[in-house]
Amino acid sequence: DSNDNGVILEIPKVNWEDVGGQREVKAQLMEAVEWPRRHQDAFLLIGTRPPTGVLMFGPPGCSKTLMARAVACEARLNFFAVKGPELFSKWVGESEKAVKSLFTKARANAPSIIFFDEIDGLAVIRGKENGVSVSDRVMTQLLVEMDGRFDRLLYVGPSNETDREDIFRIHLRKIPCSSDISIKELAHLTEGCTGADISFICREAAIAAIEECVDASEVTMQHLKTAITQVQPSQVQSYED
Ligand code: ATP
Repeated sequence: DSNDNGVILEIPKVNWEDVGGQREVKAQLMEAVEWPRRHQDAFLLIGTRPPTGVLMFGPPGCSKTLMARAVACEARLNFFAVKGPELFSKWVGESEKAVKSLFTKARANAPSIIFFDEIDGLAVIRGKENGVSVSDRVMTQLLVEMDGRFDRLLYVGPSNETDREDIFRIHLRKIPCSSDISIKELAHLTEGCTGADISFICREAAIAAIEECVDASEVTMQHLKTAITQVQPSQVQSYED
């Protein structure tokens, strides 16, 4: 990774198979990002511009960042990650300059994705210059650079039971597991847990297994059940099918 003024250029190593559930969002992202690149000629032929801006929204820990990385990796794009609030500067014009230089860098490394994490953080930045709020000006500059708008709005929500099975499978696949583990039961026991919660549960269970037996550690159902009691599900309510 190279770090320059808080902007990070990384080559993500996340594949679609690392993301559990979220089938619809995955499909939409592929369509918006991979597809136009694969079929550039078709777009030229119809004389239409592929979408440039995708806005993912939803509660934390449900895989927005993970999927942004996956789409960049799968489509072989460079990935620039920047936290929305980091673009903010109290100096007149500096915030716009930061946005401009970010896009210049991304174009120089095209094809690329610029991932703005916590873009909602911009909205809460107060500070006004000449009556126009800094966050409004940053947002305007952003839209100018994008040459458009957010073409696609994608809700990334909490997972249902079947998707949680997927997520457990992903996080347990690299850990030695005892044969008593029931993925189905784990998914059932974790209503309201996000992907981030499940990742935490699996890590805690693995640590507990190592603490118990360093040489021949194996995660058991009991380790996982104990770890589950240690998390407060992030979601008050999940949307079960
Ligand atoms: P935030 O707003 O906090 O950035 P986010 O929606 O971007 O939330 P991520 O950062 O992508 O969430 O998720 C955090 C971690 O949780 C991931 O790195 C991954 O380990 C795990 N995780 C979340 N969702 C999933 C999922 N659907 N499948 C597998 N792992 C997941």
